[in-house]
Amino acid sequence: MSQPTPVSPDTLIRPEVRALSAYRVADATGLVKLDAMENPYAWPGDLTDAWLARLHDTQLNRYPDPAASDLKQRLRETFQIPAGADLLLGNGSDELIQILITAVAGQNAVVMSVDPSFVMYRQIAGCLGTRYVGVPLTADFQLDPAATLAAIERRRPSVVFLAYPNNPTGNIFDSAVIRDIIAATPGLVVLDEAYFAFSGKSFLGRVLEHPNLLVMRTVSKLGLAGLRLGFLVGRPDWLGELDKLRLPYNINTLTQVSAEFALSNMTVLEQQARRIAADRDGLASALAALPGLRVFPSQANFILFRVPRGTADAVFQGLRARGILVKNVSAASAALRDCLRVTVGSPPETAGFLQALTACVA
Ligand code: PMP
Repeated sequence: MSQPTPVSPDTLIRPEVRALSAYRVADATGLVKLDAMENPYAWPGDLTDAWLARLHDTQLNRYPDPAASDLKQRLRETFQIPAGADLLLGNGSDELIQILITAVAGQNAVVMSVDPSFVMYRQIAGCLGTRYVGVPLTADFQLDPAATLAAIERRRPSVVFLAYPNNPTGNIFDSAVIRDIIAATPGLVVLDEAYFAFSGKSFLGRVLEHPNLLVMRTVSKLGLAGLRLGFLVGRPDWLGELDKLRLPYNINTLTQVSAEFALSNMTVLEQQARRIAADRDGLASALAALPGLRVFPSQANFILFRVPRGTADAVFQGLRARGILVKNVSAASAALRDCLRVTVGSPPETAGFLQALTACVA
């Protein structure tokens, strides 16, 4: 019997997948981690003890509650989800982006966002063989109303993602322009409010006012990044369709129990978020005082800044050599040339970052 030709990735894997580069997460071992918008604070000891006691009674031999009913109820109360709106939970909001794009994917579909914005919109559209259009923001990273509305008119997107505040720029878009975009879009508009805890601005209360609006949140930036929990809020008819794409037990038991516990102690997380937002403004002023830097206004828990021309890689490496990991976004988009993004850490972390940066740009 002749041997079959050995299969290789070139013959089997879809071309659009082979064309992708993997989303790489930097190794932060031994470094002060200011690259991923995490909350730097731990819980008070008594809260940790109460959480561990709660986990003690959790049964890992059983599958999770497929509907995550207790957690959903807790989310409804904590985030004041409008009655009449449904909730869809994801293994991080990344998974919700994947579900949304999977639902509309196809040769004729267009997924739209702005440029620069969160890379996962483009990445997931790419791996699902779906065209992605990133409408350029203005030079100071605001929405360009005329260009965006013209692009919507011409490309007829199935879904438009708007991060509110935007990542990696940190600013929040004009809500009147967003309303115009919602009205003009023939498809869905997903407002990605991952950084709501630091901006306080939201469309969640208006989610039922617009037939094509969905609002997405995550608990990652609030201090629960390790749990992987995001949620999408919207009309039951949309979420009912999207729910068909959700794998049955996508929110594991430890996440359900831990998130429910954490959100029932929301004041701790909110206090931390308030502190981070206040420290962000201090960090922005300190950065602005350094020579040669341009600091972009932020309503999130990170700050984008531009270093002198052609020095982003050297400054990034210089910070790394001094034990500080930030995100080098300078090659992610032409608009981000010479830009680095730093997460607001604890005061000692921020002081260490500023000291290292001062040495790098001197
Ligand atoms: N949306 C935006 C705008 C983000 O910046 C991020 C995280 N970087 C996410 C969604 C994904 O968040 P998660 O998957 O942790 O919920």
